[in-house]
Amino acid sequence: MNGVVVVSPHLDDAVFSAGATIAALGEVSVVTVFAGDPLPEQSTGWDRASGFSSSSEAMAARRDEDLAALDALGASAIHLGLLDNQYGGCSPEAVIESLHREIARLTPDLVIGPLGVGHPDHITTREALLADPPPCDLWLYADLPYCTYRWRGESRTHRRLRREGHHLDVAHPRLGNSQAKLTAIGRYRSQASLFKLDRLTVPERFWHVQPRRSAPVVHRARAAG
Ligand SMILES: [Zn+2]
Repeated sequence: MNGVVVVSPHLDDAVFSAGATIAALGEVSVVTVFAGDPLPEQSTGWDRASGFSSSSEAMAARRDEDLAALDALGASAIHLGLLDNQYGGCSPEAVIESLHREIARLTPDLVIGPLGVGHPDHITTREALLADPPPCDLWLYADLPYCTYRWRGESRTHRRLRREGHHLDVAHPRLGNSQAKLTAIGRYRSQASLFKLDRLTVPERFWHVQPRRSAPVVHRARAAG
């Protein structure tokens, strides 16, 4: 592929946190981790607040919104079938395996994932990327809107990652396309109204990560072979 993979915990995070940069980067695939449907279907407070009566209705509509939003940025969408924390979540190992498989298939030059602030699914996604780092450059993005009002959470996360042996430097991507990002945000019709727009349009921030050296993860498929 030789492009960029942006890892999005939910169907909107990559655009909210990195949409202007995605529009400027060229060949980008956005891989959304928690895009699966729970069985049997559920009805959660978040989905009701988003205007949906069931998880099936919510996830089908949100996947469509994501396709439309990423189309506005010229990026492609890949939806993994793992379950959002609000539907009961999934194991950290399942996230590691799914991301490993997708990144191995796409062979990007750069993977950009969440710093992991403000939501357990964001933390699980970051931890999966650091537990089994991709064989290419790795950046983390400031989670928007969470990092605009959880400064302590952001600085605590930085301190924790450095204490664990990961090295973080500020990354400077090329200037983003804010107008394209605004268009894309507007296509998440069910979600955008639940967040304050001015917290999604602050400057996007990124860090280049050199993950600590650790024993490689043994993947089930490889182990079986
Ligand atoms: Zn999210």
